[in-house]
Amino acid sequence: MNPILIIGAGMAGFTVARELRKLDKERPLVILTSDAGGFYSKPMLSNAFAQKKEAAQLLTQSAEQMAAQLGATILAATRVTGVDTVAKIVTTETDRIAYDQLVLAVGAQPIRLSIDGNGADQVLSVNNIADYAQFRELVAAPKHGASARVTILGAGLIGCEFADDLAGAGHAVTLIDPAALPLAALAAPALSRGLYAALTARGVALKLATTASRIDRSGDALHVTLADGSAFDTDIILSAVGLRPDLSIATAAGLATARGILVDASGQTSAADVYAVGDCAEYTIDAAGSTRILPYIAPLMTAARAIARTLTGTRTAIDIKDSPVIVKTPSYPIALVPPPQQALATGAWNDEQIDGRTICRFYDAGGLLAGFCVAPQDAAIRGSLLAALGSPAPAANPA
Ligand SMILES: Cc1cc2nc3c(=O)[nH]c(=O)nc-3n(C[C@H](O)[C@H](O)[C@H](O)COP(=O)(O)OP(=O)(O)OC[C@H]3O[C@@H](n4cnc5c(N)ncnc54)[C@H](O)[C@@H]3O)c2cc1C
Repeated sequence: MNPILIIGAGMAGFTVARELRKLDKERPLVILTSDAGGFYSKPMLSNAFAQKKEAAQLLTQSAEQMAAQLGATILAATRVTGVDTVAKIVTTETDRIAYDQLVLAVGAQPIRLSIDGNGADQVLSVNNIADYAQFRELVAAPKHGASARVTILGAGLIGCEFADDLAGAGHAVTLIDPAALPLAALAAPALSRGLYAALTARGVALKLATTASRIDRSGDALHVTLADGSAFDTDIILSAVGLRPDLSIATAAGLATARGILVDASGQTSAADVYAVGDCAEYTIDAAGSTRILPYIAPLMTAARAIARTLTGTRTAIDIKDSPVIVKTPSYPIALVPPPQQALATGAWNDEQIDGRTICRFYDAGGLLAGFCVAPQDAAIRGSLLAALGSPAPAANPA
């Protein structure tokens, strides 16, 4: 019998392996990964500075410990270069490995902006623990002054989290975004304004409605020129403009892709016995065949559980439920379920202030609650808003 083969040792790959082992302790299992194969919680990467956590402290288990725990062979530092889905063979830079069933859990890659200037190649991204280690080292050793000047491109979820975290750790942070408010693509405007105020109070300099048009080296520093004509020096530039599902293996193997690797209701790709999960996957989310990428932990856990059952012989549909995105900005903790894209043009936000808390509910054209944002958030309020999704707006009091 050939093994079940998982490509990728992130949260998705390891969760499939863990779920599989709950159901079957015997099947040979091989995990191939281009990284070092240890376990860490990726969401910790954007809130570890204020907690003074080194990369090594975030790594909770080594590849050897994971292999022992999962009863698996982990081939770390091993890049997969191709998959033959007919012969059922995976090719690495040095080997060819046969599989019975294959799971692609290869994640997503940072989007690279094209920016002019001889310093543009200095822009960093933090998408794994090795990136974090490098970033942390640079931030810890500023070339000017006691603390680093860090410029972040992109005031989305990850950019805002890093900004809050780094400012909380005492660094001088500049946050740049083409939108007029932070978190504009996900949050209600009222919440984005609240976040703007909280980040500003934390000391973050927000430069909005503009972009970085040039980055030039200027001695030890980097000189950033914005599209609005202003310019400033910084030590480090972090790009947080988004991630793109990694389609390289899937495309070369001839699998069906859109933004992500397309999978059916049970997580199977267009090839038999090949599954995809996590940031690389584009899930089928309803009976009509609508598909969505869902680059968060909760959906990958649900998908991994279902795929493990399917791998062990019980074809199981992935039942993805709405779950709130928690924005890890301690100066203004937000929870949100973004409204579906197609509802945005016809529905409307309804804002409410209660006991120092802002609650924004999005009602679709049919008057049903289709999304929400709340800050400051806690488990009770996000739970009650989640339970109300799909309910009609309360009737207005008669005058
Ligand atoms: C800074 C940050 C903060 C986040 N915060 C949150 C949060 O608060 N809440 C939340 O829900 N989500 C959060 N996310 C998103 C969440 O972390 C991801 O959705 C999740 O970790 C993705 O896991 P993955 O296993 O699909 O991908 P990855 O973790 O990217 O793993 C991909 C794996 O594939 C391997 N690989 C890739 N290509 C190859 C190849 N050719 N050969 C062999 N191996 C290969 C890589 O080495 C890696 O092991 C955050 C993401 C980031 C970057």
